[in-house]
Amino acid sequence: MPATILDVINSISLFGWGVVAEGVFVVVLSGVIFWQDILKRSNKFFFIFSVTVFLWGTSFVFLNVTAGLFAVYPLLALSYFLGGLIAPTLLFAIDSFSNRDSALSSSRLLLFSAPYVLISLGFFIPGSIVGYADGATDKIIFGDWFVYYAGYSVALVGVCLFLLIKKYRATAGIFRTEVKSFLITFVVTALIALFGTLFLPVLIGSQNFFWVGYTGGAIVFIVATRLLAVKYNFLNFKVIAAESFVSLVVIILIAEIFIARSVLDLAIKTGITFLVVFSSSFLIGSIKREVESKEKIMRLSREIVLISKRLKILDRKKSEFLTIASHHLRDPLTAIKGYSSMLVEGSFGELPAPVREAVEKIFDSSGRLITMISDFMDISRIESGDMKYKFADVDVKKLILEISGEMKQNADRAHLAFSVMIDDHDEENESFITVADAGKLRQVFSNLIDNSIKYTPRGEVSLLLAKSLDGRKIVFSLSDTGIGMNDTTKEKIFKKFSRADGVSKVYTEGTGLGLYVAKEIIKKHEGRIWAESKGESYGSTFYVELEAKR
Ligand code: ADP
Repeated sequence: MPATILDVINSISLFGWGVVAEGVFVVVLSGVIFWQDILKRSNKFFFIFSVTVFLWGTSFVFLNVTAGLFAVYPLLALSYFLGGLIAPTLLFAIDSFSNRDSALSSSRLLLFSAPYVLISLGFFIPGSIVGYADGATDKIIFGDWFVYYAGYSVALVGVCLFLLIKKYRATAGIFRTEVKSFLITFVVTALIALFGTLFLPVLIGSQNFFWVGYTGGAIVFIVATRLLAVKYNFLNFKVIAAESFVSLVVIILIAEIFIARSVLDLAIKTGITFLVVFSSSFLIGSIKREVESKEKIMRLSREIVLISKRLKILDRKKSEFLTIASHHLRDPLTAIKGYSSMLVEGSFGELPAPVREAVEKIFDSSGRLITMISDFMDISRIESGDMKYKFADVDVKKLILEISGEMKQNADRAHLAFSVMIDDHDEENESFITVADAGKLRQVFSNLIDNSIKYTPRGEVSLLLAKSLDGRKIVFSLSDTGIGMNDTTKEKIFKKFSRADGVSKVYTEGTGLGLYVAKEIIKKHEGRIWAESKGESYGSTFYVELEAKR
């Protein structure tokens, strides 16, 4: 009768080795998780649980192999004893997981372990829990105590379930979904494991099919926790996978060292093992760093999304506020401007000179305020996308002649020469028609002329309206002999709230909004607006180019 350990090992089937390998895998996996955070109690208990599962599985493999050869009751008792330990170790793992790793109270530990200490006494009497049928080495009988033994495991699994449900109820958000998925995994695993290892053997009187519970349970558990890990990123899957793989390779390599056939063989295998350990520590380090930076980026991007959402809301509120505030300001100002204009024009009788001067100032200031408010309103409309355009055929030549007629007075008042030239290639009927919003174009041209007058202390402002040589474009250009600008200023003046440095000495009350609004309007007309200057105090020229209607 073969009885040596080697004989036993040799007779382990491929399937048996599969069970052992599965156990090793679970131990390595939980060992790696444990290693990542040794202080975490749930990790420690999960590791103890995995080791118990491994020992139990392996003992069953040996039991199966020896069953046909010789009856060893102690091995049978040991297997079942280890099987009974699975439920309490699992309970401790789940308990520390669900209680956020608060110290497991010794009274609770005692409460759950004590019954098993008592039940285990039954293993000393063959046949009270399990035993072999007389003379048979493969026929197992279950004694009267088996019901306590099985009841204990079932009850503890029930407590685990209770704890998980409690945890599920106490959690919220993404964590709740995590616990829910874990709960489902647990129930499926527990059902398969309990059925395969406790009920099936009793039903058929043999533990030949114990692998149904063992393998089924383990596979569901491993696959499901892996899926969860990937989905919720809660176990740092990539790092764990790499560490598990490397650990398995190292275990195999160490096993190889033990069965080395010569000193040279031993030296080579040891060298390779060290090399693998050394290089894989670098590999795992880099994977860890990669995972960490990825997590950091993900966290940051989530924060950015959140912040941008908040900013958008704030921006919308700001625009709404601006529109409302501007409306309430503009209406009374229009009345002030209207009445002061009537007063200046003498609609209420001739005014004494000093009064007239004061009213003129009121008229000017209210006009400026209205422009400023209109600019603010335009900004909020542009930014909220509410700026409405009414496109129609517009005769730019006519428009320019109208505006310059109105602006002439301003230039006169500033003692500036103001000239307007229409270059129509000597063709009377040269068309300056474009498709545009007439009101908005008027606003742009008025603003440009107004600026030229404002920023020209002396000299002249000259306007030229022409067509490009190919006749496709209408080109408006406005030159002045004013303060001019340097290259940096030229770059920035079309941006919101941008003014040239020191320009407030020439003209205090600007907001730096007019050109921004003008640029946005011209953009909507698919035209171009830009400025040129030979430098500070060399005057400037502003251009607007529009598509001519053909
Ligand atoms: P504001 O005139 O209210 O400051 P604008 O957006 O109309 O706002 O103009 C922005 C800036 O562009 C002005 O502050 C000024 O520095 C510069 N600028 C505009 N027009 C002229 C010009 N004709 N000559 C020199 N600088 C100008």
